[in-house]
Formats: sequence, C-alpha cells, structure tokens
Amino acid sequence: MKHRVQIDLSFETAADAEAVVADVKRRLGKAVVVKEADGMRDGGYCEYHRCYHDEQPGRACEVVERVEVEKEIVPAKVVVGDAAR
Ligand SMILES: [Zn+2]
Repeated sequence: MKHRVQIDLSFETAADAEAVVADVKRRLGKAVVVKEADGMRDGGYCEYHRCYHDEQPGRACEVVERVEVEKEIVPAKVVVGDAAR
C-alpha cells in the first residue's frame, strides 16, 4: 500500500506554477515507483506546461518541465527541460 497524490492545478502566473513544481521536486526524493501485483511498474510524474485551452483558436500545450520518478529507489530525475522561458 502506498499513499498516492494526484493533482492538476492551473494558475494565472508562472511564478505560482513554478512554486508548486519546486515544492514537488523537493519532495521527489521520497517518491517511489509502484510495483503492481502483475509486476508492471507505475511511476509518478510532475509536468508543468503552458496550457492554451482557454484561447481561440486553441493551440498545443507546451511542456516547460516534466519530472518523473523512474527508480524504485530515489532519486527521481528531470526528463524534459528545466523551466525554460
Ligand atoms: Zn494544457
């Protein structure tokens, strides 16, 4: 059994989004990959993207940073980008 957190939050400012990502990254050292009963691995992640779903015409979201838990034992690592602006 694990204690799993899933969130999806949108903010008006990059600063607020970056603050949440920074907090998650500080805690990633304790995050683990879930090994399911059938042996499959179910890793966690945190993704920050610029979301244009509220614009007309819409356009594709842009990933700014994605962090994944890749190991059964820490550390997690940054997979895509690093807060490029
Ligand atoms: Zn989006």
